[in-house]
Amino acid sequence: MPGGVNSPVRAFGNVNSTPIFIKSASGAYLHDVDGNDYVDFIGSWGPMILGHSNPKIIKAIKDQANLGTSYGAPTEAETSIGELIRAAMPSIEKIRMVNSGTEATMSCIRLARGYTGRNKIIKFTGCYHGHVDSLLIKAGSGVSTFGLPDSPGIPEELARHTISVPYNDINAFSEVFESIKGELAAVIIEPIAGNMGFIPGDKDFLETLRIKTHESGSVLIFDEVMTGFRVSLGGAQELYGITPDLTALGKVIGGGLPVGAFGGKAEIMNFLAPEGPVYQAGTLSGNPLAVAAGKCLINELIKINPYDELEANASYLLTNIKNEMFKKEIPFSFNQIGGMFGFFFTDEFPNNFDDVSASSDKYFESFFKDCLNQGIYFAPSKYEAGFISTKHTKKILDEVINKVKVIYGT
Ligand SMILES: *Cc1c(COP(=O)(O)O)cnc(C)c1O
Repeated sequence: MPGGVNSPVRAFGNVNSTPIFIKSASGAYLHDVDGNDYVDFIGSWGPMILGHSNPKIIKAIKDQANLGTSYGAPTEAETSIGELIRAAMPSIEKIRMVNSGTEATMSCIRLARGYTGRNKIIKFTGCYHGHVDSLLIKAGSGVSTFGLPDSPGIPEELARHTISVPYNDINAFSEVFESIKGELAAVIIEPIAGNMGFIPGDKDFLETLRIKTHESGSVLIFDEVMTGFRVSLGGAQELYGITPDLTALGKVIGGGLPVGAFGGKAEIMNFLAPEGPVYQAGTLSGNPLAVAAGKCLINELIKINPYDELEANASYLLTNIKNEMFKKEIPFSFNQIGGMFGFFFTDEFPNNFDDVSASSDKYFESFFKDCLNQGIYFAPSKYEAGFISTKHTKKILDEVINKVKVIYGT
């Protein structure tokens, strides 16, 4: 395997370290092959919002497995997960299930181009939308971690159609928008960014995108692969009160199995085959096991609505860590929404990718390594977000805080 991994960030390259290999996971903990336990603040990058190995989700998967694992034909369960998602996110009038977040954003881009008959895309520097050719332009996450501004293998002819603009910068966006609005198919954004660390979009900025794309007949795509059912039941679009034309989903809606989905305005979605001319398909799309896991998780989330509690717990953890850093005069800032959080070794909380780049690598790397040695597993890059679950109890968080105190001798 190149780098020994199946997805680059797992290799721990950004923190000059080597990955741990996981054997099993339960609740708030990962268990590695060497017998060590870690409090997990990655949660499979989002899906484990109820903790690992949730018994209800495991049962839902087992029950479905007994009925068959894939049919390549429609099922009632697909309709019901679609209805659950639509109830939470009313902007999604029609939906299509796919197998990953990458597939979801890729399909949104093709659909937006097919619907508008235009080619240009505006994205925002540091936003990651999966490894889609047209979107791997100044993408955050693993791409930033490895310092690749773009990836070889993406034709210039295609990359030329994507313009990347600084996040949260209304003026920079407006300037680019005015120069290409007649050719603009879509604007795609993480309304709350989770792939340059965790950076919420400014409300004014997101509202400007809504107004301008409406004006120019371009499609506004919210990439909520990470934020959907993570920051609230209705995602970032609910928190901001902004209705995108299309939404990409993934991560949480698969309950830990490989799933993505995209949906939005019926008028646009009707351009998809077999109803319309834009082709998109998938052998395993709407897979019964994945849908069973996702449905079970979404139903649980509706029942317990854990987002306020998750946010309060993340704030409790980070406030206490900041206090320790303050004693040592180490710059530290943080923020959290629902079950997502971010922290940076910088005095002022970042507003865009450049701010994140400027935060201290040195402090991040030693914090990450010291925590891992103490059995605390944060994301291995300052360009990633943090995730908390309902299994991260006050008791577990206090243990983490005490270990941080020991690390820093405070
Ligand atoms: C994870 C992620 C993706 C890609 O999803 P995959 O399932 O890894 O392909 C796309 N967009 C955002 C915002 C993500 O966080």
